[in-house]
Amino acid sequence: MLKGIINYSHHLLEQSVSSGDTVIDATCGNGHDTLFLSKITGDNGKVLAFDIQEEAISNTKALLNKNGRTNVKLICDSHENLNDYLASGQYDTIGGAIFNLGYLPGGDKTVITKASSTIIALDSILLSLKQGGMAILVIYPGHPGGEEEKEAVLKHVIHLDQKYFEVLKYGFINQQNNPPFIVAICKK
Ligand code: SAM
Repeated sequence: MLKGIINYSHHLLEQSVSSGDTVIDATCGNGHDTLFLSKITGDNGKVLAFDIQEEAISNTKALLNKNGRTNVKLICDSHENLNDYLASGQYDTIGGAIFNLGYLPGGDKTVITKASSTIIALDSILLSLKQGGMAILVIYPGHPGGEEEKEAVLKHVIHLDQKYFEVLKYGFINQQNNPPFIVAICKK
């Protein structure tokens, strides 16, 4: 069987993130990706987890507490301001990152990620990504606003210089109803 979208995104991160790395969850939502990153970076690693909604931050905090994870910095701010947090010099390279785009499952479906901020955050991460590190985007074209974000993100990543980056698209092309897919960017 082929790995599903979330499993495959985690598989790629597991292959490329090392224990002790600093990594980013650009959209922490209900905290499932944050928890996963917290485990693979280990107690000497660090996860910076962003979301613009207090509800998402508190859902993620509850999930981390339930699992006894303490290596996560939760940041209630847009990921487009990510540089403000990286610029402190405290974190020199980023071991990996995930963007799970769209809206908060179980939350307000009108609060969605937007291409303009997604692209700013992605470019900041790519600058600080370690060699062999990956930035993963899980893209959902099915909700209102999702198709525009998909088009803009694809248009952007397709132009990343192949001398420096490998860009992979992974998705199920026979699924109905605009299924999600992955864009994974690996720094050479
Ligand atoms: N990764 C999450 C999980 O494992 O449960 C799911 C994330 S959910 C699909 C998308 C999240 O992106 C929502 O919680 C939403 O509030 C957040 N979001 C939207 N715009 C954002 C922005 N500019 N910066 C950070 N988070 C944003």
